[in-house]
Amino acid sequence: MEKYELVEENIGDGRVAVVKLMRHRETKEHVAVKFMERGHKIHEMVAREIINHRSLRHPNIVKFKEVALTPTHLAIVMEYAAGGELFYHVLHQRRIAEDQARYFFQQLIAGVSYCHDMEICHRDLKLENTLLDGSPAHRLKICDFGYSKSCLNYSRTHSMVGTPAYIAPEIISGKDYDGKLADVWSCGVMLYTMLVGTLPFEDKNDRQNLRKMVQRISAVQYEFPHNVLSEGSKNLISRIFVANPSKRITMEEIKSHPWFLKNLPMELSEDAHYFYLNQENTKYCVQSIEEIMNIVNEAKTPPVASSPNL
Ligand code: ADP
Repeated sequence: MEKYELVEENIGDGRVAVVKLMRHRETKEHVAVKFMERGHKIHEMVAREIINHRSLRHPNIVKFKEVALTPTHLAIVMEYAAGGELFYHVLHQRRIAEDQARYFFQQLIAGVSYCHDMEICHRDLKLENTLLDGSPAHRLKICDFGYSKSCLNYSRTHSMVGTPAYIAPEIISGKDYDGKLADVWSCGVMLYTMLVGTLPFEDKNDRQNLRKMVQRISAVQYEFPHNVLSEGSKNLISRIFVANPSKRITMEEIKSHPWFLKNLPMELSEDAHYFYLNQENTKYCVQSIEEIMNIVNEAKTPPVASSPNL
């Protein structure tokens, strides 16, 4: 980690990690570094997060750069998204205008649909895991692949993961579920929250009541406020919030929904993505899977020193 210098001690607290802003000493490039304590907390999920993240190369996904070890921590070095969480952006404005919400949603779907094409389900999509870069274009960047899962080895998945407000009814029911369709549901929760300014399945008079929220999700009980949303957005949301996953709108269908297609930026076309990959490939030099696995395995041994020396 010697090639990086610390810029800001804490730009994000996660479930298991602290994220710091650092700068490459030579290139001066800013990076976000996720530090996870060495020892028993480094398990298979961490290896999976890194290997999945490494394989993804898309403008709407925070770019993975490398992993490294310090005496006390495992460090995941990534592209820095300077614009902060979309969550704060929405919170700050209470709710955001439909055209802006559509623009974010189009980018979200571009990123998630690419993950699905790569047979990776995110499984924890939420406004807090969706960042913005620092550019005036407000490019959206999906982060945190901590719960991600390859859809290839297991076509269905039955573990109860995610964040309560964003999880699909089939996850609550404890049955096997299709991770891609569960991601579609979470995207719907994000869209509703951007447009309305509150979570769809939260009881407005009893926000802390998790049991009530879970009941409301299972019953698909939500409302559209009067005169706020267009018919197109309501139609799309109501096709996402369908309890039976096999009747829920698919990622492909979302991409051809009229509300989604309005003002679709050229840069989200598949051609633009190939252009991005070609450009990126010239700069692409990441560690091999074997190197990464060796570092992660070494990180399973407890810290060498007890001081939090990063
Ligand atoms: P955890 O897996 O422990 O939950 P996350 O990966 O979600 O940790 O990161 C925690 C927080 O750190 C995020 O919600 C975000 O605010 C911030 N963060 C993570 N990655 C980046 C990044 N690449 N650029 C800027 N901030 C980031």
